[in-house]
Amino acid sequence: MIDNILHLYRRFYYRFPQPIMTFLGSTYGSFPLSFRFGAAYQRHLSLARDFEGWNSQQQEDYMFHKTLETLLFAERYIPYYQRRFAESEFKTSSFKSLSDIQRVPNITKEEIKQNLRLLYSFRKEFGISYFTGGSTSVPMKFFLPLRTSRGKEKAYINHILSHLGYEPRDRTIILKGRNIVPDESKRVWQYEPVDNHLVLSSNHLNPDHIQSMLKEIKKYQPKFIYGFPSAVMDFLRAAQTVRCEGLPEIQGVFLGSENVFDEQIAQIRDFFDCDVVTIFGHSERTAIAYKHNIGEYHFLNSYGLVRNVNGQIVSTSFDNFVMPLINYEQRDYALGTNEFYDGTDIIRTSKNIEGRIQEFLITKDRRLVSITTMGAGHFSTLQNIEAIQYSQDEPGIAELRIMTSNPHDLDLNAIRDELERQAGSGIAFEVKVVDWIEKSSMGKRVLCLQKIDLSSVETSILKTFDGHQPPAPEKPSPKDPSGVGVMSFSSKRRLYESMPLFLKKSVSLVPFAFVAGRAYRKTLRRKHIFDHASRTEILDYQESALGEILAFATAQVPAYHRYRAIVERHRPFEALKAFPILEKETVQQDLPNYLPATFNEIPHYQISTGGTSGNQLKIFVDDASQAIEMAFMHRQWSRVGYFPGSRKAVFRGVSFPNLPKGVYWQYNPIYREIQFSPFAMSEENLPAYIRALIRYRPAFLHGYPSAIDIVSEYILRNDLTKDLPPIKAVLLGSEGMVEGQASRIARAFNTRVFSWYGHSERVILAGGCEANNSYHHFPDYGILEMIAENNTACEHEGDRGELIGTGLLNRSMPFIRYRTGDFATRLGPECECGRCWDRFTNVEGRWKQDMIIGHRGAKISIAALNMHGPLFERVTRYQYYQDRIGECELHIMVAPGFGEEDRLQIERAYRDKVRDQLRLSVKIVGDIPLTDRGKLKLLDSKL
Ligand SMILES: [Zn+2]
Repeated sequence: MIDNILHLYRRFYYRFPQPIMTFLGSTYGSFPLSFRFGAAYQRHLSLARDFEGWNSQQQEDYMFHKTLETLLFAERYIPYYQRRFAESEFKTSSFKSLSDIQRVPNITKEEIKQNLRLLYSFRKEFGISYFTGGSTSVPMKFFLPLRTSRGKEKAYINHILSHLGYEPRDRTIILKGRNIVPDESKRVWQYEPVDNHLVLSSNHLNPDHIQSMLKEIKKYQPKFIYGFPSAVMDFLRAAQTVRCEGLPEIQGVFLGSENVFDEQIAQIRDFFDCDVVTIFGHSERTAIAYKHNIGEYHFLNSYGLVRNVNGQIVSTSFDNFVMPLINYEQRDYALGTNEFYDGTDIIRTSKNIEGRIQEFLITKDRRLVSITTMGAGHFSTLQNIEAIQYSQDEPGIAELRIMTSNPHDLDLNAIRDELERQAGSGIAFEVKVVDWIEKSSMGKRVLCLQKIDLSSVETSILKTFDGHQPPAPEKPSPKDPSGVGVMSFSSKRRLYESMPLFLKKSVSLVPFAFVAGRAYRKTLRRKHIFDHASRTEILDYQESALGEILAFATAQVPAYHRYRAIVERHRPFEALKAFPILEKETVQQDLPNYLPATFNEIPHYQISTGGTSGNQLKIFVDDASQAIEMAFMHRQWSRVGYFPGSRKAVFRGVSFPNLPKGVYWQYNPIYREIQFSPFAMSEENLPAYIRALIRYRPAFLHGYPSAIDIVSEYILRNDLTKDLPPIKAVLLGSEGMVEGQASRIARAFNTRVFSWYGHSERVILAGGCEANNSYHHFPDYGILEMIAENNTACEHEGDRGELIGTGLLNRSMPFIRYRTGDFATRLGPECECGRCWDRFTNVEGRWKQDMIIGHRGAKISIAALNMHGPLFERVTRYQYYQDRIGECELHIMVAPGFGEEDRLQIERAYRDKVRDQLRLSVKIVGDIPLTDRGKLKLLDSKL
């Protein structure tokens, strides 16, 4: 509360000398925020938190009531709305559901400017005037409630910041365009004690001043950075020029107020080695959203109601009883894939937000081209380019200004040609090197100086936005599923042949020094590099990573000592060919020989091969490997829109210890997933599964194809597809798929399926392509070889052979040239999606789907039953045997030392897993016969 008053006098405060400011500020800053900002702060803080945890129904209820509240106020007190409501025959009493908001006319900035007098009332609350920023047009005046508005704003911002662990008054560097004129102390920063900020002067983020800033930063030990993307990039570039070292560990970077490009986020993350949260908001305070790293923007619709009307963000104020805005046309655009509240145009998430219509160029035939699609983001992350700016004052002609320290390294003609190609030849470009690019009065870098008033052509662009079409007339690049074109890596490469590629740095990364959280982030981040890297860059990377692992293995692992000389004398890919193909049985028989000498110094844990081969292998994996594995999963799932935190329904063989009768699922809040038991899917129980699925409203399904297929078959047979929530994709792993299964699952859930290939030995991991049905093998996961039956290497498209893998990441038990037992057909590396990774298709082999039949006909896949862990330590081979429905015998061959207690333990473990769905007994047998081809059949079923 008191802060709202003091805020008015802040100009005086900043004129005090620093010691007085520090005293006043820190005293004041130490007051609780609820005192400074009034009860509104606390109320909105808990509301923002609660809102994110609510289900759709609760959220929609809340949004409905807040909208109604705003409408009632407008109808009663605001003359302008009284008139507009009457004109369009809208009455608040007829507002029955959220979609009724579509019947209220929109309001534009021009209408607000013309009718300001009729748009506010101080009857309920006192208001304070603000002006929109806006570097191009005349600022717009508006009013916000004096007493509550800043408290609410602070609460939402702090709530968003808390996603990276921020707490009020945590030490934070501010890079938000305040220019500090140095006094005799020559300081180009200011300590701001109220919020405990260190503010760096935006006009001094250059190599001349960065050293002194860095010194101050080391003293200050910040936890966070908060700034305009362009200012953070300026800082980063300056710091790189002086090769700064020993920067304090930063816990998170917050970006806001300008358009941000994914490439910038990637570079900022890479530099500070931390997560980045981008905040979207505006001074009218009707909408707020944030995104985590390069995920989607999440709108907080408890702050204001946000709709997508033909691509444009149209919003309605909540909690503003001075000058509420209803269906306000923001001139910001929600691009790419949008997720909506059911049956409405209210946005939950949007892949991209692009602000300000002025950031478009216009062609001579009056089409609009977004400068984002012109590769502005790519330019600005490349080394040696400090800033760029587009300028246009005549349709069909534009200028690109480049600020660079090395003008001779740039091929301006090549850049021009590329720009003209991107603009579909509708714009003639002039490319110029300049000494300096102006910032706006707010310290923001203006990316586009658009002097033509584009509002007249706005409607044409809105049409192209509809249906997720890209704003540029060009065909969307297949690389980016969001529909916003991305400059291909090869064209960037052509452009900047003369320049050092930012990729080079990453290539030299040694993948060993990983620890859990950091390992996850690093792995995740490499997505940007590898999705766009050329074949040569990928092979360069792999060669260096393979060199590391071979050097390690030959120095450390007894079984590989004798290849040491070869590894030292030959290039890694050559040396690899000298190693023998490794059989699972060889490792099994001589395990200690395959462990490194430093085994005990490498943090690790034990798993066993899953899989259906019937003889398990004990495997040791590094502690960090689970986090890394997770990052790879997230990398590939992002191809179908998944981001960490998406709601998921899971069908896998996890354990379900304490389910009440009639319940076959449990909720895991850490992963936001509902886990369904794959062990109870009988005709009788499936209706309950479907009801739970509908209630939970997952965005993704994840699990064994066999298990999800059972549900799919049931859904199609009973025609339930229309009742299901919208599913973005079904993620199918851990088993191969049987003919027809994927299409049946896709039909049942009316969505696409995404599958991948991998195994516990962690030598190969390949995920489905979003554009076709090939698998892409992750270049930074392992080295893939394929070997035909006659022992020749399969190197050409169409060659069929066995998949052989060398893991690049696991140090506690490196597998070199490990035979997977699976066969596939090799495809050429170039894919229409733009990746240049190893590719294959038609996998066949170890993946089988045998089903055991539980009580009342429930089908249980073997993959779901499979046990991991030490239970099978002294079991040498096993087989499921079934001759009666609902009963199963597990036949095991055992090693000496296996006792009755061990047998009972295995029985107990299965009982915990399958509960009353299957009676399973464990029987020790003398022999388990193999098939004619010498393979073990995992299930011997007489049914
Ligand atoms: Zn592809």
